Amino acid sequence: MLLTILGGCGAWPGAGQACSGYLVEHDGFRLLVDPGYATVPRLLERVTADQVDAVFVSHGHPDHCADLNPLLRARAFRDDPPAPLPVYSLPGALDAVLALDRPGILTDAHVLREFTAGDRIDIGPFHAQTRLLPHSVPNAGVRLTAGERVLAYTGDTGPSPEVVELARGADLFLAEATYADRVPEDLRRNLSSARQAGRQAKEADVRHLLLTHLQPGTDATAARAAAGAEYDGEIGIATSGLAIDLSCKPS
Ligand SMILES: [Zn+2]
Repeated sequence: MLLTILGGCGAWPGAGQACSGYLVEHDGFRLLVDPGYATVPRLLERVTADQVDAVFVSHGHPDHCADLNPLLRARAFRDDPPAPLPVYSLPGALDAVLALDRPGILTDAHVLREFTAGDRIDIGPFHAQTRLLPHSVPNAGVRLTAGERVLAYTGDTGPSPEVVELARGADLFLAEATYADRVPEDLRRNLSSARQAGRQAKEADVRHLLLTHLQPGTDATAARAAAGAEYDGEIGIATSGLAIDLSCKPS
């Protein structure tokens, strides 16, 4: 299983950066997880729009799904449009982004496959176990298994025992860490710090922690240090272009 980070900014894309966007590949199948702001230009540096086989969206905030619109446009406006793109999301999560174009324009470019958080879904070679995690809107964390490797991704989440269950024993834990050490009081139930991500990585006994969704202005060095105070394993920061082959990780 190969993970390529298209973007790792939380909330809005910093200069030259992109928001949440992750290309996950296995056995030639390309799954795009969270096409957030500015991720499509990074995606198109690597593959053509028609080479994406499916999209999974954790929740309906635009920093996680706004670039679904240009991705679907890039497919629909071709002379020879590819087959409709399967798009997995929670019910209603994509209503706003799918309404950006007038009705009918992108209808044939996608097929919406809405699921309920907690569902297990097979997406190509990936087995996806979804889990409802606390956020200001419904948010589905996902545990992707393929080739005996496990990638756990939180989307956006406040701290919860459910996060630990999602990540239990994962080869890679891709964890939202909007802040380094301290989440503002009014957001504490809906977002996490790098320190909390580190604590949960330790509790879940994951093999590798990758911090993502750092809000522009959150210091990456401070985030890594805060997570490292809680978790002894390998810690990385998700930035555009970073690629991790989970198959190469020692078992
Ligand atoms: Zn969000």
